[in-house]
Amino acid sequence: MPEKNEFYEVEFIDMTHDGMGVCRIDGFPVFVPKALKGEKGIIKLTKVNSNLGFGRLMELQHKSPFRKEPICDHYSECGGCNLMHMDYSMQLDFKKYRTAETLRKLGKISTKVNDAVGMINPYYYRNKAVIPFGEENGKMIAGLYKSRSHDIIDMKKCYIIPKITTDIVKFLKNIFIELNIPAYNENIGTGVIRHIVVRNSYKFDDISVTIVTLTPKLPKKDLIVQRLIARYKRVVSVIHNHNPENTNIVLGKKSKVIYGEDFIRDEINGVLFKVSHRSFYQVNPQQTESLYKKAIEYAELTPNDIVIDAYCGIGTIALSVAKDCKSVLGVEVVKQAISDADENAAANNITNAKFKVGKAEEVIKTWSNYDIDVLFVDPPRKGCEPAFLETIAEMKIPRIVYVSCNVATLARDLNYLQSQGYEVQEATPFDMFPQTSHIEVVTKIRYKGQE
Ligand code: SAH
Repeated sequence: MPEKNEFYEVEFIDMTHDGMGVCRIDGFPVFVPKALKGEKGIIKLTKVNSNLGFGRLMELQHKSPFRKEPICDHYSECGGCNLMHMDYSMQLDFKKYRTAETLRKLGKISTKVNDAVGMINPYYYRNKAVIPFGEENGKMIAGLYKSRSHDIIDMKKCYIIPKITTDIVKFLKNIFIELNIPAYNENIGTGVIRHIVVRNSYKFDDISVTIVTLTPKLPKKDLIVQRLIARYKRVVSVIHNHNPENTNIVLGKKSKVIYGEDFIRDEINGVLFKVSHRSFYQVNPQQTESLYKKAIEYAELTPNDIVIDAYCGIGTIALSVAKDCKSVLGVEVVKQAISDADENAAANNITNAKFKVGKAEEVIKTWSNYDIDVLFVDPPRKGCEPAFLETIAEMKIPRIVYVSCNVATLARDLNYLQSQGYEVQEATPFDMFPQTSHIEVVTKIRYKGQE
């Protein structure tokens, strides 16, 4: 059995779902961050469990031709990106391979997996940044967390969020320092500023800034707002959120608009959207447009179709398909998102979309007598509740398009649908999160009946 703190000469034969290189020491699997398949090198074993281990790459003896010099100075310690040492073409191949492997191994699904759809410029794409604040040696810092920790890296640059977002973070940090407003200290539960959340519109200039504090008040709030909007004309919405809880959840229950409106405007494939600070919105707007086009293609909509958009957020999928079908029903658990969806329908003169607040697994039951033709389903990372899948299998909905941000739960859910007479006909990964190992997949599913 390999021993901790020992050095080993290894060859990397595979990659894990989160982009670590996999090697074997006497048959024992060891995972090593930032090592690529095909590489050889010397590792130090840092952790050994009963059936696997972790190591650190100490020396690279044979370099992969796909290895790339990361462009970010923070890359070696930052928890934000984990594939920046991989050439972009390899990142896309990796995502296609992971999708096919996971569907096959976890879901027992062998289906056609298309090439991952990538970005022409795979940087500066995130329209939302959540930035924690803290202190280091008595000085305020703000940035992303180090990998697997809550230690903050004082952000100088970031290559996956817009440059203006990084500027706003630094600008606000300097104002807080100047006004003597301290950062939250999560270890002892003191201080004021916990996070700032910046959201950018893709099609408009709008930017919203949410300042999350531990305290019920944001000290000197008028001055902060004044300086922020004087410097950044694009900021159309400033929210103060109060989060007194000892939690990793960013937003607290109470929010107040302290400047402008509680939304930014955006547009996807010709449909206008208002996005309020609490609603879910896809983080890569450019890729979202192509992803929705593929989802619509997979649905093969006809003008008489009755459609469900489950886990609909602010109604982005429902409102994108409304003109191509008879009617569409959306369900979503966040109340604010549904009121955004209703307003978005009205703003686009769409009258055949109806939205309901509630849990998809409960609301779907109230629709089970409808003759539904198409279901779009786009759940959070944990996938669908069994009760939801059971109801749709009973309804025998003929066409399903499943959009997933977690291939493992997708494979689990598809495995169940397959056992209920559904066939997974095709899957296309979309690179919504370049430089990271996250994968988004759209799948085309048809009801074939039980054997
Ligand atoms: N389809 C949307 C949102 C997808 S994200 C888009 O493309 O923008 C998943 C959404 O599911 C989130 O908005 C989240 O609030 C919602 N959600 C989470 N659990 C849910 C549940 N049990 N029932 C309904 N919606 C849920």
